[in-house]
Parts: sequence; structure tokens; C-alpha cells
Amino acid sequence: MININTYNAEPDYFLRNAAIKNLCEKFNFLRRGTIGRSLCGREITALTIGNRLSPVLYAAAFHGSEWLNCLILLRLAEEVCEAYRSKSRPEGTDVYKILQKRGLMIIPCVNPDGVEIALRGSSSCVKYKKLIDSVCADHRNWQANARGIDLNHNFNAGFRELKKLERENGITSPAPTRYGGEAPFSEPETIALGNLCLRRRFSSAIAFHSQGREVYCAYKNTPRRSIKLGETFASLSGYRVALPEKLATGGGFKDWMIGYLKTPAITVETGKGRNPLPLKCFLPEYERIRKALLRCLLV
Ligand SMILES: [Zn+2]
Repeated sequence: MININTYNAEPDYFLRNAAIKNLCEKFNFLRRGTIGRSLCGREITALTIGNRLSPVLYAAAFHGSEWLNCLILLRLAEEVCEAYRSKSRPEGTDVYKILQKRGLMIIPCVNPDGVEIALRGSSSCVKYKKLIDSVCADHRNWQANARGIDLNHNFNAGFRELKKLERENGITSPAPTRYGGEAPFSEPETIALGNLCLRRRFSSAIAFHSQGREVYCAYKNTPRRSIKLGETFASLSGYRVALPEKLATGGGFKDWMIGYLKTPAITVETGKGRNPLPLKCFLPEYERIRKALLRCLLV
């Protein structure tokens, strides 16, 4: 393992960057890039292994309090790199062969400011501290970006319908969760991810959220491969394929990938309990979904 402390500590910006640096030193074929920056200027980092053409995308921490998934994707990056180098076959998966054909891009944290707020409080985003403090009693539950926009409500997929639902639920201004802003792609984080997807044309994508041990693969005319991806993940992890509740439909990254780019995509809700899931959940949950994470590279 890169450093045992990486997986025993909350993955704030400092720790993630240190872990990524370690990974890049250990595996010289691992490529590190920045897809953009958050409102407070934090880098949104991407790690790529294998073929550059039509890679698979795994992205996590769209929501601040779901930071445990940063660790899951960092550990996966490490394991995939180890298998790629040694040409071993974890869970019977020929990682080297698969990634030669179709690479893997991992974005451990789409919302670095949100994670920092959830872990370190509003002082970690000085410019927005006043706003954060005015709408949030407990920073540990923070989901949105630094100015209170829920990134997974900010993609251009059924945005108008979602806005209507938000209003019906009394959500009309910046909040810790579920306020999607006044226009889709209004935030630097969603713009960065959207532009990346327009440029790279991923062959499939998995968005990691918490919690519930559920997989969502449906959105309007769901591509068959999206269903296959969801069913594969569910059958290998013991998670359940489910339909999202109304306020979790539309505006999401997975919805935009399916609806606009026609790319097979799913949302995975890791773990069981209350967000933020505690650090001790990391290793057991990683073990639970390890096979699914590896095999879904193939679907
Ligand atoms: Zn989420």
C-alpha cells in the first residue's frame, strides 16, 4: 500500500495530494492531470492508466460529505496500477489486457471545496465562509460546492423539471444540499467535468455517491449498456439496482452522460448508514465492491 496512513485518515486536500504524489512516484506510467479548479482554486485531479482512447471514467465526491469514496478510488487506482505493472489478475480480471484496450480515468474528488468544508469547516473556504455559516448548522453534512450549489443538480439534464421539484420542496437559494443553481453548468466544477467529457468521449462512466448500497442506471431512454453496467456492479457487490427518488432525478452527472452524450453511465451509492460514513467503513466497503469495480472495466 502507498502509505498505511493514507487509508487511516480523512482524505482532505492535503492528504489526497500527498497520496497522489506517492502513487505517481510508485507507478511511473500513471498520468496525473488537472481537469479544472474549484471556486476556491483547488485542483480537480484526474489519474489515467492505460490506453488514452475512449477510457472508462470513475468519479467520486460530487458531494462534500461523501469523502469516503475518495479513499475507495485512490485505493482502486493503487490496486489497478499494481496489477497493470505485474500483469497479475485480481479477481480474475486481466487488468493489463483490458487497460491496453480501454484505459481508466479516475477522478477521486469532483468537489474539493465541498469535501474540505465537510471535513474542516467553513474556514477552509474563506471567501464563502459567511454564506456557508448562514445556511449550515453542521458542516460535516455539507454536500454542495463552496457557494451552496449542489453539483449533482447542476448538469444539463431535465434541469427545468428538477428546478420545479426543488421549488416545490422549498429549495430556492444556496443550501448545503439539493439547490442546483439558476442555470445548468453555472459552476466551475461542473464545467470542468462537462468539458472533459465532451473532449474525451468516455466509453462508460460510474459516479460514486453515498449511501445505501444501491445502483442507479435508469434515465429516460436508458442505454442497454447502462443497464448491463448497473446489473454487473450490483450482482458482484450485493448492492441493489434501484430507481432514484424524484429529487434525485435529473440534473445529475449520470443523467447528463446518458441524456446528452448517450454514454452508458451509472450512479453507485456506497456504504450503509448516515453520511458522512465513518473512516472505519472504508476497508470493509472497498472489499465488498472490489470485484465489481474491477469487472466493470470490462462491461
Ligand atoms: Zn451524493
